[in-house]
Amino acid sequence: MSQVMEPKRSNELMELEGQYGAHNYHPLPVVLSRGEGVYVYDVEGKKYFDFLSAYSAVNQGHCHPKIIGALIDQAKTLTLTSRAFYNDSLGPYEKYMSQYFGFDKILPMNTGAEAVETALKITRKWGYEKKGIEENRGVIVVCSGNFHGRTTTIISFSDDSDAKKNFGPFTPGFVTVPYNDMDALKEALDLPNVVGFLVEPIQGEAGVYTPAVDYIANVKKACNERNILFIADEVQTGIARTGSLLAVCGNCSCQDKCERQETYNRPDVLILGKALSGGVYPVSAVLCDDEIMNVIKPGQHGSTFGGNPLAAKVAMAALEVVNDEHLIQNARKLGDLFRNEMNKIIAKTDLITLVRGKGLLNAIIINDSPDSSTAWDICVALKNNGLLAKPTHGNIIRFAPPLVMTENELMQCVSIIEKTILEFKKSNN
Ligand SMILES: *Cc1c(COP(=O)(O)O)cnc(C)c1O
Repeated sequence: MSQVMEPKRSNELMELEGQYGAHNYHPLPVVLSRGEGVYVYDVEGKKYFDFLSAYSAVNQGHCHPKIIGALIDQAKTLTLTSRAFYNDSLGPYEKYMSQYFGFDKILPMNTGAEAVETALKITRKWGYEKKGIEENRGVIVVCSGNFHGRTTTIISFSDDSDAKKNFGPFTPGFVTVPYNDMDALKEALDLPNVVGFLVEPIQGEAGVYTPAVDYIANVKKACNERNILFIADEVQTGIARTGSLLAVCGNCSCQDKCERQETYNRPDVLILGKALSGGVYPVSAVLCDDEIMNVIKPGQHGSTFGGNPLAAKVAMAALEVVNDEHLIQNARKLGDLFRNEMNKIIAKTDLITLVRGKGLLNAIIINDSPDSSTAWDICVALKNNGLLAKPTHGNIIRFAPPLVMTENELMQCVSIIEKTILEFKKSNN
């Protein structure tokens, strides 16, 4: 006999988190209990379009049957061996990843921050052992406004005071340059002992800052000329989000999968996370060629869960879905449509000043001070109208729906956004 449970009310659940959980987030007041494709449902049963996709981890849509199927099958078979032993999923996964992304080798980890840490360690070690930099002197250049995760080393080169204040002392060996500024970058790359340049091809957390179209190509060239590793953090931008397999692919015109024609700015070190798992389970990875990866020897780096059979099967299924459902092409097509529609709304209101982005990673800029609550209030109004998005950095709202969205669904979302923005303006005049 099935027991009918009275659903716990949203308020009770929010109070529980408030009382028993650390206050390290400030969530929108909505309590979700179910997800399917582009939709999520709250505990009262109200349906929403998910326009955040867990910061682009759920590119393949919520609870994708193929990915969940892979998870369940493997969960019944073998979940964790540690890397003390071989397992029969890891090798096939590593081969699949190597061929899918075109690098000799992969180092499997779990979270995005761990993969960034891994890339930094590989880069430093390469600098000492292959480039001949004196040990402990290696410098890695990073960008202002960066977001690469939350570990102590990573926040050491953040310029977000919330991320950094009172968490020191910090890890040395990083130099910051303004994003999208080639002159400043070249100057920094010419400093002594530089081993790598770590960059997001589009700065997601900072507010979806898209650099000049030739920035990444120039970055690659400047790094190559100086024998400095070009490290692309594609944790948020990768896996079809921006309308190509990777944001560094540029504007290729492939049909099935990103062909990476002349526009492909292949990094020396590629960092992936988030959508590598389809939002199902933490999976991240660092990819590079043998001459770089082979600086890591047994015992020098690792993770108990990294490369476990569950992660391997989930990630392969997640990447197959990207191909099966042509998510690259869909993100590109719907992204163009979305920005076009946002520009029509911008023409009707002075509440939004700009839409920017690539593929389905976009943001609108709200015409108010970054310290005002306007962007937050708009997100609450969007929620009430059935669409979930979150402000990033004050007056910016990021819009990043799952890539399995249809054109019809996207147009419904555009209507919700238009209605909300136009009504919002009225109620505040
Ligand atoms: C989210 C993100 C990370 C960190 O990933 P976690 O899984 O949260 O540790 C790193 N880099 C970029 C660009 C990200 O967007």
